[in-house]
Amino acid sequence: MKIQEADAKSLLVAQGLPVPDWEVARSVEDVRSAADRFFLGGAQQVVIKAQVLVGGRGKAGGVKLAGFPEQAELIAGSILGMDIKGITVRKVLVGPAADIVKEFYMSAVLDRAAGRILLMGSAEGGVEIEQVAAANPGAIVRVHADPLLGLLDFQARQFAFAMGLGGHLKAAVAIAKGLVATMLAYDADLVEINPLAIVREQDAAGAQVERLVCLDAKITLDDSALPRHPELEALRDPDEEDPADREAREAGLTFIKLDGTIGCMVNGAGLAMTTMDLVKRAGGEPANFLDIGGGARADRVAEAMRIILADPKVDAILVNIFGGITRGDEVARGLIEARAVQERDVPMVVRIVGTNADEAAALLEEAHFTTAPTLDDVATKAVAASRGAAA
Ligand code: GDP
Ligand code: MN
Repeated sequence: MKIQEADAKSLLVAQGLPVPDWEVARSVEDVRSAADRFFLGGAQQVVIKAQVLVGGRGKAGGVKLAGFPEQAELIAGSILGMDIKGITVRKVLVGPAADIVKEFYMSAVLDRAAGRILLMGSAEGGVEIEQVAAANPGAIVRVHADPLLGLLDFQARQFAFAMGLGGHLKAAVAIAKGLVATMLAYDADLVEINPLAIVREQDAAGAQVERLVCLDAKITLDDSALPRHPELEALRDPDEEDPADREAREAGLTFIKLDGTIGCMVNGAGLAMTTMDLVKRAGGEPANFLDIGGGARADRVAEAMRIILADPKVDAILVNIFGGITRGDEVARGLIEARAVQERDVPMVVRIVGTNADEAAALLEEAHFTTAPTLDDVATKAVAASRGAAA
């Protein structure tokens, strides 16, 4: 689950990381009053940033600075409602603008191959890290955190030095360790600060000081770990969740939309992947990965069918069920129910084996469904049906 910059910043603050002040506003009036407060508090400029779950907002014109309140209003008017990579901006972050001296990159990711948290850092911040990795891979420094001991002090110091943050060593070490702590505290699989910036500020006595702060924050949470953090569910952004994804999640289905034409309804992740391979081998393209899960009842099957059919590209459906806990006759009943109410008629090929397969076969035959006995057969028939529909 991706969360918005403002929410990611709240999690960083909770872990003790340095983040400049901000407020979230959904209207021009709210931006104006937030900007008024920051200008009153002594800000020379305010920054206004689109809150959308895509990167590169700066380049897309979704990050702007204002020097006075009326300008903040104008900018708010131009950013709110703007389209960034297909997403409509509905809210912005407003804060005192940072006076940036230099931008860095620092992130923590789950390195699955190593089974550890990997910290990456670069003195080439601000730009997309993929570009740095392609153009100048040597500019990225890496260090793994031990799963038991965490990121050790000497590792954090070496890392910060190698990033070119020797002048802000203490702060950089605290931030590196804070990223690891954030990963662990929320079961995140990515915590990315880009830019991590050295900024110029005035201290209480009016003297200029430099400070290291997290100017941007991107966090993705491990969906499978969300049950351990029920409070984080509130950070899911309904403005940006795809309707099909939401329906699938609420129905307890694992659903991933793909680009092909053959809708797949399968139980079990392994069988779902095998089915996608078989479709490809038979010359077709799967429209989705869909695992109805173990023990699915008729209503969940019907819901899965609705989600598959909502994709206009789907022109054939392949159902492949291996009944274990899942009962074949329940699935068959769900399919029959779904077909009785569906608005779009798409050819369907069904293979149900395992628990109550005979009962399922009898139900499907009575309802005139096309069935297939083997994996190859069901894939070949579904691809042929898709071709027939496309022709
Ligand atoms: P992104 O483009 O979606 O990654 O959004 P960022 O928050 O990273 O902002 C993009 C760029 O805008 C940064 O790399 C900075 O150069 C600039 N920027 C962001 N916040 C501020 C700020 O407070 N002050 C100044 N001067 N520039 C900023
Ligand atoms: Mn950024």
